[in-house]
Amino acid sequence: AAKSTRGNQYRLYRPNMEEANDKWLLLETKLHQALKKDILELHYQPKIDLKTDKVIGMEALLRWYDPELGQMPPDRFIPFAEECGLINDIGVWVLRKASAQARAWNESYHLNLRVAVNISPIHISTTGFVDMVRDVIAETGINPHLLEIEITEMSMLDYTEDLIDTIKQLRALGITISLDDFGTGYSSLNYLKKFPVDVLKIDRAFVRDIVPEKSGIAMISAMISLAHALNLEVVAEGVEEEAELKVLREQGCEYVQGYYFSKPLSVEDFTKLIDESVSVNKSDF
Ligand code: C2E
Ligand code: MG
Ligand code: MG
Ligand code: MG
Repeated sequence: AAKSTRGNQYRLYRPNMEEANDKWLLLETKLHQALKKDILELHYQPKIDLKTDKVIGMEALLRWYDPELGQMPPDRFIPFAEECGLINDIGVWVLRKASAQARAWNESYHLNLRVAVNISPIHISTTGFVDMVRDVIAETGINPHLLEIEITEMSMLDYTEDLIDTIKQLRALGITISLDDFGTGYSSLNYLKKFPVDVLKIDRAFVRDIVPEKSGIAMISAMISLAHALNLEVVAEGVEEEAELKVLREQGCEYVQGYYFSKPLSVEDFTKLIDESVSVNKSDF
């Protein structure tokens, strides 16, 4: 019935609530199952230190392939998971998986790669979050100094003293905190001052604007200066072009991520990348 109303000029006045509900339920069930059956996967995107041009760590990015729905983009299913309440379980799963994987790579190759995990502002604001992180650290044996948590700027919108306290506790454990997608949210500079983070991740939207727009360079330059004035390190996201990289270097950006260096890689492909680098450089990555 829903199909036949599509394209019908009265469609707007007869939203098929039942169909919407069914879709929602199906998605929720599927995501729940994927989590329970360990079907979700993490890919890892290298982060490059511009001082040495070496890989210093990686960001874990969630991948969900469903046989019927196909490859589901995280930009779509993460907000859904936040709404239906699955996000906390997903966050714990990601943290555990990424920590165990990073520890395994670091042990077998004698490396000190730092793994970054994206955590939803909803999850980090949950009571017991720090205890959970402490448990995962103990369980996986990851060095907390090699663990990073990325939270989006959005969380500062409804930031509370509790959230600031949580972040302080995480940092006291040795964990690095970075502010993801900087520049796309609604935070004021005042919030940034109050927010005790270590790293600022400049959103790809600003990196993309670098060339050939002169104002784009001014913007990036101002963001990097601001970060440095606040004693924060800077990561630029989504670097695709040599020209972007050149400007970022000139402006003193510390780290970059992007297709120019590498897409997010499966565990197998990331291992290959380490293997190749290690065999060329002898334990240097
Ligand atoms: P994000 O944390 O800002 O991650 C960066 C996104 O940019 C990733 O998309 C990455 O694949 C993509 N990217 C990296 N380099 C380039 C580039 O050079 N060009 C372009 N066009 N894109 C690039 P992805 O993996 O689709 O993830 C999208 C968003 O979904 C993430 O943005 C993050 O907010 C969220 N997300 C992904 N995994 C997780 C997770 O495990 N937990 C949570 N809470 N959110 C996640
Ligand atoms: Mg991120
Ligand atoms: Mg980002
Ligand atoms: Mg993003």
